[in-house]
This record gives sequence, structure tokens and C-alpha cells, in this order.
Amino acid sequence: MNSKKIGFNTICTHLGEINDEQFKGAVSPIYLSTSYAFEDVDIKRYPRYFNTPNQEALCKKIAALEKGEASLIFGSGMAAISTALFAFLQKGDHIVLQREIYGGTANLINEEFEKHGIQFSYVDSNTFEGYEEKIKSNTKVIYIETPSNPLLSITDIKAIGDLAKKHDIITMIDNTFASPVNQNPIELGIDIVLHSATKYLGGHSDILAGAVVSTEKHIDQIFQVAKNFGGSLSDFTVWMLERSIKTLGIRVKAQNKNAMKLAKWLDKLEDVSAVYYPGLKSHPDHEIAKKQMKGFGGMLSFELNEGLDASKFQKELKLIKSSMSLAGVESTILSPTLTSHALLSEEERERQGIRDGLLRFSVGIEEKEDLMQDILQAIKKTKVLALEH
Ligand SMILES: *Cc1c(COP(=O)(O)O)cnc(C)c1O
Repeated sequence: MNSKKIGFNTICTHLGEINDEQFKGAVSPIYLSTSYAFEDVDIKRYPRYFNTPNQEALCKKIAALEKGEASLIFGSGMAAISTALFAFLQKGDHIVLQREIYGGTANLINEEFEKHGIQFSYVDSNTFEGYEEKIKSNTKVIYIETPSNPLLSITDIKAIGDLAKKHDIITMIDNTFASPVNQNPIELGIDIVLHSATKYLGGHSDILAGAVVSTEKHIDQIFQVAKNFGGSLSDFTVWMLERSIKTLGIRVKAQNKNAMKLAKWLDKLEDVSAVYYPGLKSHPDHEIAKKQMKGFGGMLSFELNEGLDASKFQKELKLIKSSMSLAGVESTILSPTLTSHALLSEEERERQGIRDGLLRFSVGIEEKEDLMQDILQAIKKTKVLALEH
């Protein structure tokens, strides 16, 4: 099947699938063997070599979804991110990083890089110039994440790709929040696309996995490190992820639609003081988002008016669950200050614009009216509590 000739949802449902020659079953069989007879000296199948039948099948699908030549799947998003970074950075090298990146990635850099003699700089201003001024003669990688967590700010992907090409630097993007449904950074000039497949690719809050997509050449360079680090995914989970991705397109499009409706609705509620969603015209990066995204995603953040306690509000929600993770078909909410960004200093949170009352909302596929009703009843109860104090 030529991925260039078939549409997104057809790639999701079919590309890469293993034909069940023996029983003609409808879905790919699972091959759990960790030991395979040598077919010839070149192919030694072994799960940690990322080349079991199910791994290879799923990698074809994920590569096609991101319009790359090849991909590798990992035991977690962080396994994918750390392996890719260590494949392109060694002692004495330097990396330029977007400041607002996933907490786990920031921890990896802040806690591990110095030990390995790798230098890093976070950009102060998320613009072409902001990145350019941090580039040094030993800069090997520029790393971005857009939309970012939790304020959904947008980085101009093409501008960063162009800048990096001018300086012969490798670019990496964490494309988890957008998913391949809404954004294909390779088409915009990025070299390496990273995913926490735990999020939208999995989509049902029951899989931990990661993925890297790029050219054959870059994927081979990452593979050489990956087989040493050993972060491969069990074939059971590989099979579950293949199944999950069949509905990726329809799930994320439903989430886009719900999030857009809810963002507009929240923006008009008088108890809400701010809404952050790249699909809103009022979002400072809306124009860039429109240029590079096919949909604006299922993530949004908002703040309640001062005096309304965000954690009380969270406790009053009945349908929308408080949860650390995101991107499932079910709606979830969290306070970045108390969870994902708790390790940052108050000063750093302030610098990133993360207020204590901010709530990050991962919009699911429920009926939007039910989500609105849940928010309204929780606001009402929070107001009563505020009056009692
Ligand atoms: C969750 C997440 C990760 C890390 O993925 P894990 O699967 O938890 O290791 C990386 N980046 C983003 C944007 C995420 O949301």
C-alpha cells in the first residue's frame, strides 16, 4: 500500500497490517516470540532490536501518519525522547531548547545532560530571533514542542526548520499535543518527530508508549543507540497501539470539535477570566496556529475568576475526572501548579505565565452539552463554598 496515495483514516485502519494468512482473521495476529530462526545473516529478529513482525507493522503505520520514511516505537514517550536526544548529542555538544517543554523532558535535560558533558540553553523568546541568538558553534540540535503545555502557546515550526537548515542543525519536535491528525512537522521542515504514544496515539488511557519518526538515515542513527538503551515496547502493547490508531483520525477530529466549542463557550462565561486555546482568535499565536495546524487539538486551559478556588471546582466535577494524563477519549482536568509543573519554582512558573488557578483541560469525545453541564454545576457549588467562607 502506497501511503502517498491513500487518505489519513485509511492509513490509520490498514497501513502496515499483517495479513493472517493461516486463518484469514480480520486483524493483525500478535507474534510474541522473543526468539526467531535466522532467516539469513542480515535479519536477526529480537524485540530489543525493534524488528518483531508487530513492531515493524506498527512502525510503517506511524511513519506514514507523520509523512516520514521510517519510525521506531518505544516503551514510553520519554524512552523515545531520551534515545533520540542521546543519538544526536555527545560530550561537548550543545542543544537549544524551547523553554515551555514537557516536565519530564525538562527533568531529563536538567538532571542528566551535565553529567554527560552536554550543554544546553533555553530560549527566552519563542521566536526565530530568540532561537538564533542561542545558537553556538557547537549547537547540534534545536528542540521544540508545539502546542506547548499548559498554555498552548505555538512555535512557528517552519521558521525554526529554516533557521536550523541555515546553520546545519538537526531539529526535533515533540508533536504529542497536536497528534499527526492536526500537524505534520516533517512537511514543515523538521527532521525528527517525537510522540508520547501514551496520549493521542493510544487515546484510551491504557497504553504507555513512545514513537520517533524521521528519515531512514536518522532512524538508523537512533536505532544504534536504542538497541543499547533497550527501551523497546512489548508486542502485546504494540498490538494494542495498532488497534488504537485505527480510530486516531475520528477520535482526534471529535476532540478538536468539542474543544473548539468548549473554548468559545468558556470564553463567554462570566465566571471564567481566561481561556487558552490556539483555535480562538484571541489567542496570541492564533495566526501561526492557523498556518501550520489542520485542527487546533483537544487541549485547552482556563482560569476561573479570582475568589473561585480551582481545586474546589475540580473536586465538584462529576463527569470530568481529575487526572495526571491526557488525550484519552474521556475528558480530564488538572492543576499544573499542583501536578505537572509542581517541581518548577514559583518564579519559573510565573515566568511561563502559569497562575495557581490555571486548569488544563483535556477534552474527550463525550457530548459537549454534558461537559458544559458538569462545568456549570461545579462552578455553582464552588461559588456557594466561596460565599460560606
Ligand atoms: C506525556 C508526555 C511525554 C512523556 O511521555 P511518557 O509516555 O509519559 O513517557 C512527553 N511529551 C509530552 C508533550 C507529553 O504529554
